[in-house]
Amino acid sequence: MTDAIERVEIAVIGAGLGGAAAAALLAGAGFSVHTFEQAPVFTRLGAGIHIGPNVMKIFRRIGIEKTLEAIGSHPDFWFSRDGNTGDYLSRIPLGDYGRREYGASYITIHRGDMHAVQIDALPQDRVHFGHRLIAIEERDSDVLLTFENGRKIAAGLVVGADGINSMIREMLLGPEKPRFSGWVGHRALVNMDKLRASGLQFEACVKWWWEASRHIMAYATKGDGSEYYYVTGVPVDGWEHETSFVDSSREEMEAIFGGSHPVVQALIDATETVTKWPFWNRDPLNLWSRGRLVMLGDACHPMRPHMAQGACMAIEDAAVLTRCLEETGTSGYREAFALYEATRRDRATKVQTISNANTWLKEPEDPAWVYAYDPLTAQLG
Ligand SMILES: Cc1cc2nc3c(=O)[nH]c(=O)nc-3n(C[C@H](O)[C@H](O)[C@H](O)COP(=O)(O)OP(=O)(O)OC[C@H]3O[C@@H](n4cnc5c(N)ncnc54)[C@H](O)[C@@H]3O)c2cc1C
Repeated sequence: MTDAIERVEIAVIGAGLGGAAAAALLAGAGFSVHTFEQAPVFTRLGAGIHIGPNVMKIFRRIGIEKTLEAIGSHPDFWFSRDGNTGDYLSRIPLGDYGRREYGASYITIHRGDMHAVQIDALPQDRVHFGHRLIAIEERDSDVLLTFENGRKIAAGLVVGADGINSMIREMLLGPEKPRFSGWVGHRALVNMDKLRASGLQFEACVKWWWEASRHIMAYATKGDGSEYYYVTGVPVDGWEHETSFVDSSREEMEAIFGGSHPVVQALIDATETVTKWPFWNRDPLNLWSRGRLVMLGDACHPMRPHMAQGACMAIEDAAVLTRCLEETGTSGYREAFALYEATRRDRATKVQTISNANTWLKEPEDPAWVYAYDPLTAQLG
């Protein structure tokens, strides 16, 4: 590493789900983009993710839609069921209906698999792992970025895709820790042999509900049915750990959800490794950009994950931000960032609010305003 200052047109900070999308889309639009990620490498952590048609359209533009479709599971429905009786509270059609009505597939997939496809789609010499941003200096004609490894980059524009503890957010709005939401989620990939041995049917995408909106969201993460995953939502008194997650156990799952419907019991019985994650929150921010700095995704609108749209909003942000910069060119960044915020704020805030309330699709409702939306053609402003 060197102390010399290198120059880039656009620096994306964070190669997470939103940052990787921004890097791909901006590069596809002809901008010169470098992405800086603190992690030395990404690993396949045990977790799944839903990707709605609203974002599969963006993946089509990036050129990875077919690859993700081939890996992921294609649920025909999102079911909501009573956790004790198994009664159906809602059946939201997806599958062929979704493709027809919303313009793309709805998939559930292992987030590590999806992320790897996103990263592979980027020019590898422009993704810089092991680069933790530690200082930002806004200057007249650029932003000086200093990384922990000593590298210094002067960027024309900086996209803060650095997640809930964003340094860019801190630079714009001052230090403020996110608020613990009072909820945790347990995440587990279950043992498939034990699951099959139960002889029960496990639906491709189902949310089990108990009182006070406690729940288990369970779904397949591979199209061949070889992997099944669940994530819970459980209110707790507090979160006293310093780490981003802690180990949980089948016993803890049994204590919370034991004695429920037989399919839920089979999920608990098939649980071997399970982790527990705190859900953090922030109120909607009143500033998404300043000067040459702009934010997207969890950096500016983190949410509890109960609508399965947090990453989708980050990726939608990336698509709209790219379109705005295409309209103005990098020299018109002030106008582009204002247009971006004006286009995104209401939708992101609405999704954030519903997600935090944890009501999405519990009862029959029309999800078209989320899934049929096309961030590549929606009106700007
Ligand atoms: C349990 C759970 C389930 C979820 N399920 C879904 C779902 O089904 N569907 C959905 O759409 N969303 C889901 N989400 C939400 C989703 O995970 C987030 O909204 C999404 O990851 C946000 O993307 P992002 O790019 O903004 O941030 P992140 O994905 O968090 O990426 C931020 C990146 O920035 C890097 N970084 C941070 N600081 C620095 C620094 N100083 N220097 C360099 N790099 C840095 C980080 O290492 C990271 O790679 C879920 C979330 C949780 C917790």
